Amino acid sequence: MTVIGCSVIILSLSQKADFLYFSTYCLFMTRFFLHMLAHLLVPGLVARFAFKQRWQRAWLIMAATMIVDADHLLSSPIFDPNRCSIGNHLLHTEPAMAIYGVLLLIPQLRIIATGLLIHMALDAIDCYFQLFS
Ligand SMILES: [Zn+2]
Repeated sequence: MTVIGCSVIILSLSQKADFLYFSTYCLFMTRFFLHMLAHLLVPGLVARFAFKQRWQRAWLIMAATMIVDADHLLSSPIFDPNRCSIGNHLLHTEPAMAIYGVLLLIPQLRIIATGLLIHMALDAIDCYFQLFS
């Protein structure tokens, strides 16, 4: 929907500067939308296959690990679309990820750890796409 809306706006622009501004904006919004969608859908997919019994509960718990983004509140500015989360926010650092890896070994925390590691992987993929935008 974002892509279609952006395409209609971009096609209606006549000024080159407007075109560049809106195409950059639309690319960012599309990337942001897909990133958020992935944070919701990928844990669901993993829950369906890795935690077959009570997969809906596992999905909910893994989706809730998005709370890890609360560490953005410690940064200034709080939101910077050009900043990669990985390595720049306390709970997105390598030591934190190592702890998430260790938490995988504790059965009671395995779902949370899986959600956190999926979150880190998706953020890393987003950082990769930032290089090209
Ligand atoms: Zn994050």
